[in-house]
Amino acid sequence: MTSPAALRGRIVVPGDDRYHLLRSTYTTVARPAAVLLPENAEEVVAALRHAREQGLPLSVRSGGHGLSGRSSNDGGVVIDLSAMNRVEVLDRAARIVRVEAGARWAQVAQALAPYGLAISSGDHGNVGVGGLATGGGIGWLVRRYGLTIDHIRAAEVVLADGTVVRADADHEPDLLWAVRGAGSGVGIVVAFEIEAIELRDIGYAQIAVEVDRGGRALRRWADYLAEAPRELSTAVTLLPHGRSLVASITAVVATADERRVRAAVEPLLRIGNTLDQHAQLAPYPALVSTAHLHANVGQQPSTTTNGLLTGMTDEDAAAIVAAAGGRHQALINMRSVGGAVNDVPADATAYAHRHQGTLVVATAFPPQRGVALDAAWRPLADRVEGAYVGFESRPGESAFERVYPGATGDRVRRLWKRYDPDGVFQALWRLP
Ligand SMILES: Cc1cc2nc3c(=O)[nH]c(=O)nc-3n(C[C@H](O)[C@H](O)[C@H](O)COP(=O)(O)OP(=O)(O)OC[C@H]3O[C@@H](n4cnc5c(N)ncnc54)[C@H](O)[C@@H]3O)c2cc1C
Repeated sequence: MTSPAALRGRIVVPGDDRYHLLRSTYTTVARPAAVLLPENAEEVVAALRHAREQGLPLSVRSGGHGLSGRSSNDGGVVIDLSAMNRVEVLDRAARIVRVEAGARWAQVAQALAPYGLAISSGDHGNVGVGGLATGGGIGWLVRRYGLTIDHIRAAEVVLADGTVVRADADHEPDLLWAVRGAGSGVGIVVAFEIEAIELRDIGYAQIAVEVDRGGRALRRWADYLAEAPRELSTAVTLLPHGRSLVASITAVVATADERRVRAAVEPLLRIGNTLDQHAQLAPYPALVSTAHLHANVGQQPSTTTNGLLTGMTDEDAAAIVAAAGGRHQALINMRSVGGAVNDVPADATAYAHRHQGTLVVATAFPPQRGVALDAAWRPLADRVEGAYVGFESRPGESAFERVYPGATGDRVRRLWKRYDPDGVFQALWRLP
């Protein structure tokens, strides 16, 4: 492979000492022909031109946590943005922060903490800015502040033809619309301008609740979250517990006021038989910690799918218990969404799921081509509506229809074609 001069020293090929830590993603071991490490937008343009000239498969990688594993490939070129990880407060009064796509969310939380600012992102500090902020961003503060994309004010994008475009409300608003939820198909986003929030300490509780076979504890959890103060966001993981299940609940309350934390969390102790509980105040970066930072070497092979529920009926709860506790035993995670997520009109961004209250995510390890996952998910498949791109490991037409339903999907297809007529960035969706 020839090396463009602009990227000298920043092309990593097999045999290079750096290759083993750059070839793979979190879920997938891969063998690309080259990993390119641009350090600015001009170098991203050079890297993209080089990849296109070679006519090889192309992957774009920010943090490498994408569940499909498509941020690497076998025999192709990876544009890895990890060297573009600057975080800069542009305007403290307006709370506008410029974040480069290759930063990890732990680095963002750490850089903003001295300013008393934060950006609600996800639950894991090693996830990259680029993948999450082009898909949605369901974080620890999601009911209070909405999705990460709801706070993006501008994006700097390298398009397939090598032009560098700034998209904001006044310039290229269609591009900004697509970046906010369907950004992986329009180009390479090199940086985002995001309106951060004023936040220092938060309340944090860990609660373990026994789940009855009918799943009534889960229904009570969802019922409470439908009306709970927005400061409260929760994530639930269902774990085996003898012959039944335990719901391991992480509750985050977006306030440092202990009385409000207690009042928000206390009803969760009544949804079922509480086995354990513990609460504390913590600085926000402790949740999206730099302790999470690690190289991605294919350490977590898995298949993942998801769907959303508006309310939770007894039948929905029983289906979730069946998926988690049945013969195929998917790992089930649930996130309370709703709240501020649902303040945003469904057509305002490419993330259209603005009326649902719960995200249900199912993962199978090892992946087994998804057979076990599909079997476990069957009780839920017809009950959920829509899907979040960030927790879908098998892109393709059927996933596209669920992630981008109806008019949103029509507009995403149109804009992907407009900004990337040759389908350089959409190949993985295999759309007709
Ligand atoms: C352990 C774990 C925890 C997670 N927790 C959460 C969570 O709490 N909340 C949540 O919302 N999501 C969560 N996710 C999902 C996560 O948001 C997505 O997997 C996201 O795509 C990861 O971003 P990344 O940059 O690390 O991924 P990468 O693997 O680098 O990229 C994934 C895909 O995104 C696209 N992409 C990446 N960077 C760019 C860019 N700069 N421009 C355009 N397209 C790009 C590419 O198509 C790429 O294949 C989690 C995933 C994992 C594995």
